Amino acid sequence: MSSQPHAAILCSPGLGHLIPTFELAKRLVTHRNFTVTIFAIPSPTSKIESELLKAAATPKFFDIIELPPPDISGCVGPDAAIVTLLTVMMREARPAFRSAILGMEYSLRPTVLIVDLFSIESLSIGDELGIPKYVYVACTAWFVALTVYVPVFDKEVEGEYVDQTEPLRIPGCKPVQPEDVVDPMLDRIDQQYLEYVRIGTNFPKSDGILMNTWEDLEHKTIDALRDEGLLGRVAKVPVYPIGPLTRQVQSAGSTSTGIRDKGLFNWLDKQPCESVIFVSLGSGGTVSLEQMTEMAWGLELSQQRFIWVVRPPARSADAAFFTSGNQDDDPSTYLPKGFLTRTHDVGLVVPLWVSQVDILSHPSIGGFWSHCGWNSSLESITNGVPMMVWPLYAEQRMNATMLTEELGVAVRSKVLPSKKVVGREEIKEMVRKIMVDKDGQAIRGRVKGLKLSAAKAWSVGGSSYNALSQISCGNERKC
Ligand code: UDP
Repeated sequence: MSSQPHAAILCSPGLGHLIPTFELAKRLVTHRNFTVTIFAIPSPTSKIESELLKAAATPKFFDIIELPPPDISGCVGPDAAIVTLLTVMMREARPAFRSAILGMEYSLRPTVLIVDLFSIESLSIGDELGIPKYVYVACTAWFVALTVYVPVFDKEVEGEYVDQTEPLRIPGCKPVQPEDVVDPMLDRIDQQYLEYVRIGTNFPKSDGILMNTWEDLEHKTIDALRDEGLLGRVAKVPVYPIGPLTRQVQSAGSTSTGIRDKGLFNWLDKQPCESVIFVSLGSGGTVSLEQMTEMAWGLELSQQRFIWVVRPPARSADAAFFTSGNQDDDPSTYLPKGFLTRTHDVGLVVPLWVSQVDILSHPSIGGFWSHCGWNSSLESITNGVPMMVWPLYAEQRMNATMLTEELGVAVRSKVLPSKKVVGREEIKEMVRKIMVDKDGQAIRGRVKGLKLSAAKAWSVGGSSYNALSQISCGNERKC
């Protein structure tokens, strides 16, 4: 076994999984002097994912071993939901992962195993090797709390979660409103629900849970996860809040997933400070044609400058999850007639993909209209940018509630966009609230405060810095 600490990290498909995995790997290398090997299974259909993997090779912080995506067509139906697809794919990939690790020369084998949520069943490979093993959940502590507790809800709650009249109470945590539950809890008969409960049941088999959050951001939930009189008795293992782990700004002119479009940044350079709202629904979010029309009108009526990353409309909100950045398209075919011409002087419409961190860190950006995936939310907070949240799928409804109600750094629509088309007038009001209205100033002030809190967590001796130092390297004399 390796004499230097060596972490093997297993990562499931999806940009929102790969990106925070790379950031964790970098920190283990730079702060703990680990060597890291990431075992990734890229979505067979995502061009951006394969480009991201290529780009991660330089400068080389860690090794990447791409495992072949297993053929799961015989195990899942054609309409299988994302959590089903991901968990089944990672289950079927386990033999390949095991062979890849056991096939390593003994002296080069990992001393620590880290798996993500969807590959939690591979913790058993850590047992085989006799090394410490962790689960990395690149989400909030509140989401971890719900996932840890879902096996209890499964026994205690009758009927569908969304039909409950009372919020779902997790010991020591903010209750979850029935309409905010994560996608796999929307239908208890669907296979993805069973997979999700199984994930919750498997947490205690790990030696700890790494979370992309920090003490000051979610101290109440983190305390509950640690408290054996509360949620800690269910979680059973230590939690390590090691966030925020977010992508760094790309170097000028970088290509591939950077897509540091020169024209776009030249335009941004000319705009006044904090005057542009950035609109992007993550790596795979999509909306209906009707909603897209309202979004366009709302933006236009708000009279604010904008950059809008668009994707062709689709019926399901996660339609582009496995294909982000793939389709070539012409936005004029689905945006309202004349929109591009009328907004030519104030806005830019960019198809499919831009380098989001570069945009959010630009001083001209004053707001972020986001699907509030957790990576995007952290990128907004760490750049001090207030948000207009537009949750679509996965755990995004919980993120939206936390960002608006708990942290007060975002505005949201009265009714969830996943329930009903949000109209142009309401959109206009929300955009103006974070960009220009007086009562939006408090939101901007709070997010700037959180930016400082995030930086403090990762300063030397800060809470996340210390939490990462506490993770076993599997070879205590060398830690
Ligand atoms: N992203 C990007 N450009 C885009 C869309 C997304 O760079 O046009 C990045 C974004 O910065 C974030 C990740 O992709 O790091 C998306 O992760 P998130 O958790 O926000 O949402 P998901 O896409 O997984 O739903």
